[in-house]
Amino acid sequence: MPPDWRTQSFAPAYYRLVHPHPPLKTLFLAFGLFLVTLCTCLVAGTQFAVAYAHGEALSFEEFLHDFTLLYQHPTALAAGLPFALTLLAILLMHELAHFFACRHHHIHSSYPFFIPFPTLIGTLGAFILIRSPIRTNRALLDVGASGPLVGFVIALPALIYGVLHAKLVPGLSDPAHAGLVLGTPLILHVIAAVLHPGVRAGDLLLDPVGRAAWVGLFATSLNLLPAAQLDGGHILRSLSPRAHRYSSWILPAALILLGVFHFWPGWYVWGALLLVIRFFRFIPIFDSEPLDPTRRFAAALTLIIFLLCFMPSPFFT
Ligand SMILES: [Zn+2]
Repeated sequence: MPPDWRTQSFAPAYYRLVHPHPPLKTLFLAFGLFLVTLCTCLVAGTQFAVAYAHGEALSFEEFLHDFTLLYQHPTALAAGLPFALTLLAILLMHELAHFFACRHHHIHSSYPFFIPFPTLIGTLGAFILIRSPIRTNRALLDVGASGPLVGFVIALPALIYGVLHAKLVPGLSDPAHAGLVLGTPLILHVIAAVLHPGVRAGDLLLDPVGRAAWVGLFATSLNLLPAAQLDGGHILRSLSPRAHRYSSWILPAALILLGVFHFWPGWYVWGALLLVIRFFRFIPIFDSEPLDPTRRFAAALTLIIFLLCFMPSPFFT
């Protein structure tokens, strides 16, 4: 006689069994990418350290020169360590939070992979690949919100340190005087108003640790854009699939408009990218039980973090 189906528990059927760890060879790949990203971030960090030591804005010549240090005089890149280690710590903790949230919910994910890139900030960030479906609203929220929340907690003290050690350079935020101006997120205005009352936040030249926090918070705000498969997209979808559907169309259009109105050309890339990944299939949520109050509170916190960190013009000339 077949076993009585009523005696069987179906709850675990939400989850497929997950291999305890991703394959070892991907750990080597993750470690290799981390080391290369450390090098590009050391170059970026060196230019921030030089600019800070001279009390002046960034210059492209210094940036190009610092790349030659990689093979001519690598020990000089030690100046970039405070920036590189702070930024990599923020990004790594952000991704590890996602990684462990996935493991908690038996979701198969890769190790965190860093993207080295010879830009002014040394990297295009880091990511984990989620390889099995997210089955519940709770898991969607936990996976989406864990990274930005943990990354913010690491970046905030670094930003406060950076503001405490900042140099006052009048004209720093004026494109007529500085070659490249970095934007000032709301949180920087708030911290500057508390620690240096009466000083324009844009005139503060952050020390390299604070600049790394600035980059980390900028990356956090991009991740929290409430669309598609970004962290913010997961969070919004766990609250309201319908709002997520609308937002995944409206937000890319809004970003492209920011590009049209000359806030930052990079928004064209972000808008286009989000429109493209909009066409990927969203795997349905099997258990759509609404979020509990604690998770709703976490979602509200990520919205506040997004508003504190988002910059319409992160870079301008
Ligand atoms: Zn993330």
